[in-house]
Amino acid sequence: MGDKQRSLPGLPVPGSGGNGAEVERSTEPRLKVVDRRQLLLRTVDVERLIPEDHPARAIWEFVGRLDLSGYTEQVRSVAGGAGRPAFEPQLLLSLWVYSYSQSVSSARAIERLCEHHPAYQWLTGMEGISAHTLSDFRVTHAETLHELFVQTLGLLSADGLITLERVMLDGTKVRANASSHRFRRKPRVEAYLKEAREAVEALEAQTEEESSRQMQAAQQRARRERQERLELALKEYDKLEAAKSRVKRVSTTDPDARVMKQAEGGSAPSYNVQVSTDAAHGLIVDIEATQAGSDYQQLTPAIQRIEQNMQRAPEQMVVDGGYISSHNITEMAKRGIDLVGPESENKSAATNRRKSYKYYGVSAEYEASKFIFDTQTNTYVCPQGKRLRYDAKQESHGTRRYRYKASKLDCQTCPAKSQCCPRARHGRSIERSELLPEVAEFRQRMKTDEAKAIYKTRSQVAEFPNLWIKAKFGLRQFSVRGVAKVSVESQWVALTYNIQQWIRLLWRPKLVSKLVPA
Ligand code: SF4
Repeated sequence: MGDKQRSLPGLPVPGSGGNGAEVERSTEPRLKVVDRRQLLLRTVDVERLIPEDHPARAIWEFVGRLDLSGYTEQVRSVAGGAGRPAFEPQLLLSLWVYSYSQSVSSARAIERLCEHHPAYQWLTGMEGISAHTLSDFRVTHAETLHELFVQTLGLLSADGLITLERVMLDGTKVRANASSHRFRRKPRVEAYLKEAREAVEALEAQTEEESSRQMQAAQQRARRERQERLELALKEYDKLEAAKSRVKRVSTTDPDARVMKQAEGGSAPSYNVQVSTDAAHGLIVDIEATQAGSDYQQLTPAIQRIEQNMQRAPEQMVVDGGYISSHNITEMAKRGIDLVGPESENKSAATNRRKSYKYYGVSAEYEASKFIFDTQTNTYVCPQGKRLRYDAKQESHGTRRYRYKASKLDCQTCPAKSQCCPRARHGRSIERSELLPEVAEFRQRMKTDEAKAIYKTRSQVAEFPNLWIKAKFGLRQFSVRGVAKVSVESQWVALTYNIQQWIRLLWRPKLVSKLVPA
């Protein structure tokens, strides 16, 4: 604001009468006028741009405790060599962590914020950083970032914030950077790829007169990128076919994305992000973006990753019904991990069996329950007094099934065949089933008050980081494409979340006790 006082022409300047005569006073209000033409030179105390308790200081301090040699080893600029020095990894890491904590996930937005935002100016020391540098740093150091995440877990464990006594696993669907309308079947993608290859070749054959060099380079880049995406989409079909997947359409924008059901209803191209949270203080001990639409195959891989990250397995895993299967129950029992999850009896199997009796024309008097089991001989006796002998066994849905078969001759000559097994070409067979011991023990344990009380805390602990990541960090949709890059972005978010919790749990209370001594 300029310091000039406005005086209007034709009016006396207030207080100018010096001869004792009464001075006519103006009723015009005195206003300060904005002067935008002035040039100002100001001193800026960078250190005082943000207050003592600003989270940017805490992030800088935490990142400073990490061993960043994994990043510095990759810096190509050397002392005394040509070219500009590289930005220090502590700065780039702190910038990204602070940005994610402020729901900023765009390198261009950070570049702009570095020009005027006090927290960004404090972090950079008022240096400008290009979006290109920031963007490269975020996605090209996947392994180093993972090592850093592991280091972070080590520091948080050393501070007593992670115990692994109880870990809660939950999956959340995060939208992919792809449109639902770009999913195509294989023949269509092959046709697109042929067109894309022809377009690239045609562009390469163009002379400079037909197109400016700059425009040609831009067009070539765009068409090559399209060609690469389509080639990736075709590779994805090969993977799906090899895995005998039922998925028949692949996105031409992000071939790794899958159409998944959303919690709020409907379906959308997404990734299933698996988040393991330590119950002691709600810190994330593992995060992984997967292409799986359902959760039940994700429990064992999550435990393997936690073991790799922490060098030991959790003592207890708490999961929702989507992870409970006989395979997971037996696998956790084998690993000595206490599994807690909702008991889910397979009611549909019994319903299906009843339906199948009707379908096969079996009358009520000849249902399996009317056959008597003889434990001595391990055989069944049918209502007509014939024996059904043990034939085979199989395990599924937490149950071991034993099959018993009647002889073909007995059934073919039986007067009750039309009621018992009208469609059987050989002989009637029935199944005896028993729960696997691990499944029986699990179901028994889940009926206890202790297990029910533990499970009640699941949604509060396990779903909190998922909600926080979406609501506070704005990660409702990934800003990058491909499962590898999406996993990197997930790691950034988990790192940011953990550092934020460290600020809340340790850094801020310590600062308060320092500023306000008891
Ligand atoms: S059809 Fe076979 S199993 Fe059924 S009642 Fe007759 S003999 Fe027994």
